[in-house]
Amino acid sequence: MAHVELNKQNFFHNLDICSKQANGKDKIAIVLKDNAYGHGLIEIATMAKEYGLTNAIVQNIEEAHKIEKYFKHILILADTKKESLSHSFHITINTIEDIALLAENTNIHIKVDTGMHRSGIAPDELQSTINKAIEYKLNILGIFTHFKSADIMGSEYFTQKTIFKGVIKEACEICAKLNLPKFKVHSCNSSALFRETNFNEDLARVGIALYGYIENQSPLFIPNLKPVLSLHSLKISSRILKKGQSVGYGGNFTANKDMEISTYDIGYGDGFKRLPKNITYATPTNENILGNISMDNISIDSIKNDICLFDDVKKLAQLHNTISYEILTSINPTIKRIIV
Ligand SMILES: *Cc1c(COP(=O)(O)O)cnc(C)c1O
Repeated sequence: MAHVELNKQNFFHNLDICSKQANGKDKIAIVLKDNAYGHGLIEIATMAKEYGLTNAIVQNIEEAHKIEKYFKHILILADTKKESLSHSFHITINTIEDIALLAENTNIHIKVDTGMHRSGIAPDELQSTINKAIEYKLNILGIFTHFKSADIMGSEYFTQKTIFKGVIKEACEICAKLNLPKFKVHSCNSSALFRETNFNEDLARVGIALYGYIENQSPLFIPNLKPVLSLHSLKISSRILKKGQSVGYGGNFTANKDMEISTYDIGYGDGFKRLPKNITYATPTNENILGNISMDNISIDSIKNDICLFDDVKKLAQLHNTISYEILTSINPTIKRIIV
């Protein structure tokens, strides 16, 4: 059966590099949204706990429940519920209206929109957001922002940093005035973490780097990370494709000599997307994919029993004209994950 292999040694290597950059593993909040970037939520949570991480980040409450026993703190990026939630759950306030959707005593982090304009309160809504959160008896534990272009050279990143600095200063003043405990501050994703020379926030929200990739443009620093995931599939059958015969839907590949080829048990239904027209792709061991990829099958110029389709997604991402994140999160969650 097609399966995903997760390389624990590589994952721990990436954890070492990121923890060092963040000045401690307690500063790393591992981002586990979208099935841990396609790697497998429970498998990655298990290994992250074993490594000693205590902070995780997910998109919704359902995901948080699945990993509740693995982490001390779980930040939920976009979900609300007017019910008493586990004390380890921290809900993001993406707009002032979110506050009234939560039960008393819910832990919250306030997200501030410093320029991405996707979610978060405006900087000038900070005082009113804090007032309303207090009125609704919520526990404000953190304040954060998200960069739109931490991976790109240019001034945008610094503009957002400056705005966030101002927000933090104001938040500190409000905390002092109202006698509130200090909020945890965080702004960095993977790209931003590795742009810092002296990281001094309370948390870094690290996703893609822990899985072994970073999209930073040169000349930005690129750490030595190692891909964690490889995708494998097994042979269903072999056959001789005679000179002049073609294979698969549309007959897009035609043999120019007799060749022995095989059909393997993976396809776009499993998340291994059809290649763009006229693009050829060879596996890491240099076997060509022949013709169109089917929903559950793929034809390859090989007779091997099992084939690794990729162990580093960068090349595929490039061929698909997209980013590593998109290829990884497309992998079907029902494919078996094996930790090696
Ligand atoms: C997904 C996400 C991250 C992680 O980003 P990476 O580039 O994968 O490190 C951090 N913060 C927020 C708010 C996110 O949505």
